[in-house]
Amino acid sequence: SEIKLEELAGVGPATAEKLKEAGFNTVEAVAVASPSELANTAEIGESTAAKIINAARQAADIGGFETGDLVLERRKLVGKLTTGCVEFDEMMGGGIETQSITELYGEFGSGKTQVAHQLAVNVQMDREHGGLDGSVIIIDTENTFRPERITQMVKGLSEKYGMELDPEEFLQNIHVARAYNSNHQILLVDSATDLANELKEMGKPVRLLIVDSLMAHFRAEYVGRGTLADRQQKLNKHMHGLLRFGDLFNACVVVTNQVMAKPDAFFGDPTRPVGGHVVGHTATFRLYLRKSKGEKRIIRLVDSPSLPEGEAVVAVTTAGLTD
Ligand code: ADP
Ligand code: MG
Repeated sequence: SEIKLEELAGVGPATAEKLKEAGFNTVEAVAVASPSELANTAEIGESTAAKIINAARQAADIGGFETGDLVLERRKLVGKLTTGCVEFDEMMGGGIETQSITELYGEFGSGKTQVAHQLAVNVQMDREHGGLDGSVIIIDTENTFRPERITQMVKGLSEKYGMELDPEEFLQNIHVARAYNSNHQILLVDSATDLANELKEMGKPVRLLIVDSLMAHFRAEYVGRGTLADRQQKLNKHMHGLLRFGDLFNACVVVTNQVMAKPDAFFGDPTRPVGGHVVGHTATFRLYLRKSKGEKRIIRLVDSPSLPEGEAVVAVTTAGLTD
């Protein structure tokens, strides 16, 4: 933004200097920091840090207000996309919601990409079959999109419903872009918005945006001391871009995420998703995927604004995601 750090209430030239030295170069960087992060790195008190963050949030115009009736009006349009699995759908209160970010996190091979592929198929079905009559945009950062897999899943659905579905047609409604680095990944959300506007006019509204995987580039590019503030600021911009897309097009936004070892875990699961509090706070639904016996996978709803925590068992088979 054009606003300088020095113009924020509570930030004098000395504090501004300390913030910049710690890597908080812009108002946005401060706005998405946590008070303790800022206090530690810039050597200021936590309450001062909290005040500065508030001022930065207002200046950066994030966390703006909206009246409840407008929120309700928008919520009435929320669609639910079936996962194709009874337990999984029930746990989600009917399915994956539009206008929200749903995060799938878990270890390598836990089935995140498989679930994403299945949703890319299901969303194209009509409402009677749990779909949203929509098309799909995929931002693929790890080169794991496989059209062959889509074909198998469409055949699976054909069998399930006793319908003749054409895999070719399904593939034509999936728009895939490779992201080569984190900046490119962020820019692709803008391109996705342009494309979604075109598709809307063509009567093929985008009801699902997938980012698989969300953090791979960010983790690879931002290593070492002093890079956290910059990374979290970029990530925050990206997450809000995704949220905006979901609201604008009444679309589901599904992101996959990696896990890292929790060094301080004495009990419970020793892993947690990466991306820190920026991802934690902007993902509406957090789902933890775990391998079980053979093709079985356990999916745990970890965090949701209105649903109880729960677990669902699904299977990853050649025909797709099943009970
Ligand atoms: P990640 O969480 O790393 O994205 P994936 O979604 O790629 O994991 O899951 C990979 C797993 O999915 C494989 O180990 C295999 O168990 C299963 N899988 C992938 N393709 C098929 C297939 N065609 N038929 C049955 N299972 C498959
Ligand atoms: Mg994957």
